[in-house]
Amino acid sequence: MDYDVIIIGSGPGGIYAAYELYKLRPDLRVGVFEAGNTLDRRRCPIDGRRIKTCIHCKSCSIMSGFGGAGAFSDGKYNITNDFGGNLYEYIGKEKATRLMEYVDQINLSHGGAGTKLYSTADTTLKKTCLQHKLQLLDASVRHLGTDINHVVLENLYAELKDRVDFFFLTPVERLEVLEGAYRVHTKRGAYTCTTCIVSVGRSGSKWMEEVCRDIGIPTKSNRVDIGVRVELPAELFSHLTDELYESKIVYRTKKFEDRVRTFCMNPHGIVVSENTNGIVTVNGHSYEDPARQTEYTNFALLVSKHFSEPFKDSNGYGESIARLSNMLGGGVIVQRFGDLIRGRRSTHERIAEGFVTPTLKAEPGDLSLVLPKRILDGIIEMIYALDEIALGTANDDTLLYGVEVKFYNMQVQLNANLETMYKGLYIIGDGSGVTHSLSHASASGVFVARDIVAEG
Ligand SMILES: Cc1cc2nc3c(=O)[nH]c(=O)nc-3n(C[C@H](O)[C@H](O)[C@H](O)COP(=O)(O)OP(=O)(O)OC[C@H]3O[C@@H](n4cnc5c(N)ncnc54)[C@H](O)[C@@H]3O)c2cc1C
Repeated sequence: MDYDVIIIGSGPGGIYAAYELYKLRPDLRVGVFEAGNTLDRRRCPIDGRRIKTCIHCKSCSIMSGFGGAGAFSDGKYNITNDFGGNLYEYIGKEKATRLMEYVDQINLSHGGAGTKLYSTADTTLKKTCLQHKLQLLDASVRHLGTDINHVVLENLYAELKDRVDFFFLTPVERLEVLEGAYRVHTKRGAYTCTTCIVSVGRSGSKWMEEVCRDIGIPTKSNRVDIGVRVELPAELFSHLTDELYESKIVYRTKKFEDRVRTFCMNPHGIVVSENTNGIVTVNGHSYEDPARQTEYTNFALLVSKHFSEPFKDSNGYGESIARLSNMLGGGVIVQRFGDLIRGRRSTHERIAEGFVTPTLKAEPGDLSLVLPKRILDGIIEMIYALDEIALGTANDDTLLYGVEVKFYNMQVQLNANLETMYKGLYIIGDGSGVTHSLSHASASGVFVARDIVAEG
């Protein structure tokens, strides 16, 4: 065997699996294969001047490379079983929480010390939310911020690089099941191992589907989340963000009884566009460094849709909606809430006259021509509900950017150890469909590393 353990993907799932393996069993030979680049070489060529749109690099620096999809993220590690994935369904809530706390400790000891841990425990805001038909989900959130998140990743890499063999710009093309072992095929050759951990995230979703099809691992379709990103003056949400940083609030619509939820809240942040396979959607960031902060807060309002029979392609549905917005706006569309309610498109003039200056250059337009009525009605209802706990949310000048889409990988059939029907083949992180967050993906990596060591 070339390796005792091969890890495919060096996002949080792969990194924390490698970290825990070397801590517990430094004698194990571990190889990590990564489609993307080292952290310091990850650079998106879009500079807004010479290169304005995606040029489809062989490996997307935003989504791929050491640190995975989360490398340039806001670095919000939510310690909770209420959202961020279903890891607890496999390993139990208590264990999942302990693992997320363990990951938090590693982050602190690798550059994250001094960052703030926010918590919903003992907050009176929970009651305020309930009084207005909103539910505040329980969580503690460590906010590293984009800058410190990067430092933590640098430090983890510095510690791992001499103990683990990293193969960057080396996507695994095929995974072969041998008798009691595995072989990974890459352009640089084939490598064998007794245990294989697959942690390929969102960017590896198509490849993961192929692997499951090839070797007969059952899968199930997952949901897609569709909605908008809201941007408003930071003061309006400061009572929530100062105490909790990120609040996950859920609302059940009167009309359709759909659940609309807040997602990825960025106090004093910026709205950014995101390019997934040529489809431009919207997202948000915020920085720990006060010099990079803005006077606005942004967050997403999302509605989940899950298709199963006869149409199964939830992600395809989300992609089509995003494509429609790209067709009408050439990218992300921005609209004032007041214009949306009056049934008219926003224009550059109307936005310039408003009190909120967009932090993302987006095309003014009409989101009602893009989003399905049921989803848009839910979002509007929720904005009015949020107005009850954060007066001003439903102001005319509140900006809505569309569309925001959260894609999920299909769910791979796994046992309680996150192991497939093949002994020693583990699938973890977002690529498994079990997790969809930094903390859950990282925790799943630690969990399987411990399981591998226990199996001996
Ligand atoms: C802009 C943005 C902001 C985010 N912000 C947050 C946040 O604040 N908090 C939060 O909890 N979550 C956030 N997320 C989500 C979070 O980043 C993911 O949930 C997390 O990174 C999943 O970790 P992972 O290890 O499962 O997969 P990934 O991080 O996606 O890593 C998978 C890795 O596998 C590699 N790979 C894929 N296919 C192959 C192959 N065939 N061979 C070799 N390598 C392969 C990829 O190149 C990638 O580097 C954000 C995501 C984005 C895109």
